[in-house]
Amino acid sequence: MLNKHNLVFLGPPGAGKGTIAQLLARDSGLVHISTGDIFRNEIGSGTELGKKARGYVDSGGLVPDDLVSEMVGARLSRPDCTPGFILDGFPRTLNQAGLLKPALCRIGKKLDCVVNFEAPYDLLVKRLTARIICSKCVTNYNRLFSPPQKDGVCDLCQGALYSRPDDSLDTAIDRLRVYKEQTEPLIEYYRDEGILVSVDGSQSKEITYPMVLEVLR
Ligand code: ADP
Ligand code: ZN
Repeated sequence: MLNKHNLVFLGPPGAGKGTIAQLLARDSGLVHISTGDIFRNEIGSGTELGKKARGYVDSGGLVPDDLVSEMVGARLSRPDCTPGFILDGFPRTLNQAGLLKPALCRIGKKLDCVVNFEAPYDLLVKRLTARIICSKCVTNYNRLFSPPQKDGVCDLCQGALYSRPDDSLDTAIDRLRVYKEQTEPLIEYYRDEGILVSVDGSQSKEITYPMVLEVLR
């Protein structure tokens, strides 16, 4: 179905990376690796990694590069990643991108494509602060743009929906600033590598998803 299998989804918080990654993983068999989801899970289960990450995640800052990189390296070497993977939320700094390269090399892989999701700032803030997530299957909804059929309940699994604490207005604005300072330089980095493709993330997922499929063919 696709020509490109080893992927990074890049873009600011709220640009739709996670939503599109879930759809793509469902349809293509690529593994969706969301570092944010992994941290929320570890924090929820109170693991050692969760304890180390908690303060950073809650405040909207970044978890230290070595901690994230080690975790992603281990995840990528699991056998379910053989058909391909979608990295969502990693790398987030130039240093992480520098660590990813040799980690992939060691397991005989390389990136095929970096999809850069673009959306205007005001829309990002609106999307983040109205976002609600299923506590069971982590499907994303939005109170303004894509509400569930029944208030507070997941359409797919009936799980309870909740707002992420870091989606409060202040923390969302902080995360957008951190994105601009630390993550945006990756656009140039991957453009120079010749594997960057930008897509319009400001549309609904019904419009954006086919565009993403198109660039991966
Ligand atoms: P977003 O909606 O901001 O894209 P994520 O779910 O990807 O949110 O990430 C939530 C939080 O997890 C981040 O604000 C950060 O604290 C932490 N995190 C996720 N990925 C990374 C990473 N690659 N490096 C450092 N911290 C990360
Ligand atoms: Zn659900």
